Amino acid sequence: MTGKLIVISGPSGCGKGTVIKKLSEMIPFKLSVSDTTRPPRTGEVDTVDYNFLSNEEFLRKVENGEYFEHAEYNGSSKNYGTPNTQVLPFLEAGETVILEIDVQGAEQIKAKTPEAVLIFILPPSKEILKERLSGRGTESQEIINKRLQTAEAEINKASNFDYRVINDSLDECASQIRDIIENINT
Ligand code: 5GP
Repeated sequence: MTGKLIVISGPSGCGKGTVIKKLSEMIPFKLSVSDTTRPPRTGEVDTVDYNFLSNEEFLRKVENGEYFEHAEYNGSSKNYGTPNTQVLPFLEAGETVILEIDVQGAEQIKAKTPEAVLIFILPPSKEILKERLSGRGTESQEIINKRLQTAEAEINKASNFDYRVINDSLDECASQIRDIIENINT
């Protein structure tokens, strides 16, 4: 493995997606596109945001050993997985690969690939996280509450990560992650 493997996790609503977009204006990297069995949200595009799969297709890929890691996300009881094809060829080509995955996935990656660098994005406060999760307007109150519970459990695991970055100012947060990535010695 020659490229850098970066895992970015953080509770749903902490702004991971926006931070990663900002980061893409700063440095080049391959962003892994995950498989999921959850339905697409309005505006999400198949093969761009996720590969949206049926349960049967997902399980077949699990059995065939096609995932670098996979997990059932508590907030939705749906499956998510990182296909090997989204990671290995890019690392071999020396590229920086970023996985935006949950804490269970991050733990699997660290166990399997200790040289991976794990970054946890924290919301500025629980109140702000709650506002952001409710404001998205795409999910029912029941799902929002479940995501909030999952978020708290995830935040409690932030100490297992190599770095923790607070998403208070978007520019600041993305710049901190850029600095972390640039300073990794491979
Ligand atoms: P969402 O449904 O909001 O897009 O994602 C829910 C959670 O699943 C987020 O924490 C997201 O980072 C995580 N996730 C997305 N793709 C993967 C994946 O391939 N593996 C794992 N373990 N988690 C993922």
